[in-house]
Amino acid sequence: MVKETIRVYARVKPLGRRQQAGSYSVDDEEDLLSSLEITVPRDLADGFVNNKRETYKFKFQKIFDQEAKQDVIFDSIAKPVAECVLAGYNGTIFAYGQTGSGKTFTITGGAERYSDRGIIPRTLSYIFDQLQKDSSKVYTTHVSYLEIYNECGYDLLDPRHEASRLEDLPKVTIMEDSDQNIHLKNLSLQQATNEEEALNLLFLGDTNRMIAETPMNQASSRSHCIFTIHVSSKEPGSATIRRSKLHLVDLAGSERVAKTGVGGHLLTEAKYINLSLHYLEQVIIALAEKNRSHIPYRNSMMTSVLRDSLGGNCMTTMIATLSIDKRNIDESISTCRFAQRVALIKNEAVLNEEIDPRLMIVQLKKEIQDLKDELELVTGKQRTSELSQEELLQLDELIETFLKDNDPDSTLDVGADMRKIKYCFIHMKQLMNHSTTSDKKLLSQNISEEEDTNIESGEELEKLKDLLQQRDNEINILVNMLKKEKKKAQDALFQLNASSTCSTVLEQSLSINLEDRQSPSSCFSLKGAKDFSSSVHRLPLLSRQTGGKMSLGCQEAFEVFKRDHADSITIEDNKQLLKQRFAEVKCLGEKLNEVRSKINRLKGEITQRHIQRAALAVSSPSEELNMFDPVEEKLRMQIEEEKKSYKTMFNRFKGLKVEIEHLQLLMEKVKMKMQKDFEVWWSEEAKNLQEKPEMVTSPNTVTVYPQFIKSLQHLSTNSFSETTRVSPNEDPAGKNNSITFSNPTLKTRTPQSSSTSIPLTGDSQADADILAFIRARQRILQKKGLENK
Ligand code: ADP
Ligand code: MG
Repeated sequence: MVKETIRVYARVKPLGRRQQAGSYSVDDEEDLLSSLEITVPRDLADGFVNNKRETYKFKFQKIFDQEAKQDVIFDSIAKPVAECVLAGYNGTIFAYGQTGSGKTFTITGGAERYSDRGIIPRTLSYIFDQLQKDSSKVYTTHVSYLEIYNECGYDLLDPRHEASRLEDLPKVTIMEDSDQNIHLKNLSLQQATNEEEALNLLFLGDTNRMIAETPMNQASSRSHCIFTIHVSSKEPGSATIRRSKLHLVDLAGSERVAKTGVGGHLLTEAKYINLSLHYLEQVIIALAEKNRSHIPYRNSMMTSVLRDSLGGNCMTTMIATLSIDKRNIDESISTCRFAQRVALIKNEAVLNEEIDPRLMIVQLKKEIQDLKDELELVTGKQRTSELSQEELLQLDELIETFLKDNDPDSTLDVGADMRKIKYCFIHMKQLMNHSTTSDKKLLSQNISEEEDTNIESGEELEKLKDLLQQRDNEINILVNMLKKEKKKAQDALFQLNASSTCSTVLEQSLSINLEDRQSPSSCFSLKGAKDFSSSVHRLPLLSRQTGGKMSLGCQEAFEVFKRDHADSITIEDNKQLLKQRFAEVKCLGEKLNEVRSKINRLKGEITQRHIQRAALAVSSPSEELNMFDPVEEKLRMQIEEEKKSYKTMFNRFKGLKVEIEHLQLLMEKVKMKMQKDFEVWWSEEAKNLQEKPEMVTSPNTVTVYPQFIKSLQHLSTNSFSETTRVSPNEDPAGKNNSITFSNPTLKTRTPQSSSTSIPLTGDSQADADILAFIRARQRILQKKGLENK
């Protein structure tokens, strides 16, 4: 049993460009704990001038200041917990703090850089690495991803759903069995056999999480997300199974309702969040109190889910995320206060072991049989029934093994059954009689090679020598034949490898469609997503998106939007990086192939050397040939060297592969986000337009400024300067959450005065399309103009 208090860490988020730092200091020296001191000027708004400052001091296991990087956070906070989980204990890491303080960044990671990946992907990588190294046990790993929003649970890993709202995901409910164990109905446990599969699942969940979020329900800040890694292990043949789970929890924002200043629907949400965080706090207070028998886990879904993983039987760790700019100082203080209460709880983690019932039955059956046998022997009650044919055969086998065993200490164990014991004696007696009377057949079978020399007969020796010579010749012929066949096979394999290892394996598994960005619709067909050969349901959501269904006007507006979107730089950067990594991995793959064939060649040389020496030994036997061969030794050393470099390169290759995978997933996510942002923006534009149709000068015309026409023409020559009509989209807007518009007939005239009129089509949907686009473009231009000034 491991006993210790919950570890509580603090992480300070780097200040934004326009943020002003509050006054704080970090002191690392004090008796292993770090302390954080926050100074707040006395509230001047109260009406009296008071220059006295107030300071608050909080202790943490360690405080990670603004510049702390993700790898350091993982090494110090998550790695020790992951180690415990691998050893069979439960673990929980939860991030607590106000919205925007870096909880998601810490738990999942940033969406831009590979180096920004957070605790979840790093932990997965670490756990699978460790499992691979340990061959003494059989491990099984599963993951689950639960989102709790307004006291309802949703399964983020549901592969069938193409959710566009949170409510589309399967609802998870809590069930309690008669032993008061909690079961989560409808939460899928997906098996992940390697890091790649687990990462795909994480991204599937994250994408579901992102898609389900709308501006009205900023679910990520108002819901709790629990990513759980379940590990079970068993030693081969053992009946004991160890199960452990690691919860990585991204809690809802801890900000107070008063501050958010919301009402209506949002207030209900805020109440729920605060309520569930309040219940979490209550559970934590109860856990911290000694002799408290009732812990109010049942009050909220989250505390019920984490019931066996918060304090008590678990290694629990909390990360308090702090946004230390002036405006957020009071929230940071309340986060620290909560952390101090959490730090009082003691954990008593115990190993989660249970017995595999099937193996247990086998063991118990054997034990029962042994006991029965023993009982009969002791009570003197002999069994009179005949031994079955099967039992006799088993005994014969046992006797044979016993006789063949050279170990003088070996025993013949047939249990306490007198019938069996008697049978063994009789059988042995028969064998002995047989061996003395017959032509020593049995003995000669067991005579070892060294005893050969004891055969004195010269005639026999000559015969044997002849036979040996004959066999040697046969062997030589066979070896030559084998060599030829092997070479053929190797050549074929090498050719296959050369064409497949680099191109197929790499390009298939890492396929990146870097050039796939010309056509606007292909931007979201996300070919890469289909190319992944992984067995995991890979982001099925991506293909759900509009695909080719966007109208032309909408597509063009999207192109403009994309160009101006802040994330486009990230996508470009990542693309460049991906290209670079892809080239690197390709080059490495080629090198690996070279080394592999070099090793094969060296092995071939050794075989040749063997054959030569064997042939030489047959034609002119001499002592030397049996001795150490320096040439062979040198070849072996060369092979070892090559193997070493192969291993190093292979590890790098594997690392690059993971990085490429990760980058691709990040890019997919950013692209999805961009499209979502666009959809939201587009629908808002359309709505604004309907509300404020002031730009329309007559029922059928719209006023557009000349510089704007120019940019429109520059932007597109076919859809605005010529007459084109695209059939309206059949898919009703809103049905799949993607807004679609038809492309209208539209003619531009050469501007004659300061403003130009564009005739509208009369089709309200089409007109909305034109107007929305025009306004969108105008806004972007205005914004740009402002920025340039
Ligand atoms: P939360 O989940 O607490 O609401 P986020 O993790 O979404 O907050 O963080 C808000 C923003 O701040 C994100 O854009 C994130 O990338 C950025 N951020 C948070 N922590 C860090 C950090 N330690 N370093 C760099 N950027 C950070
Ligand atoms: Mg978040």
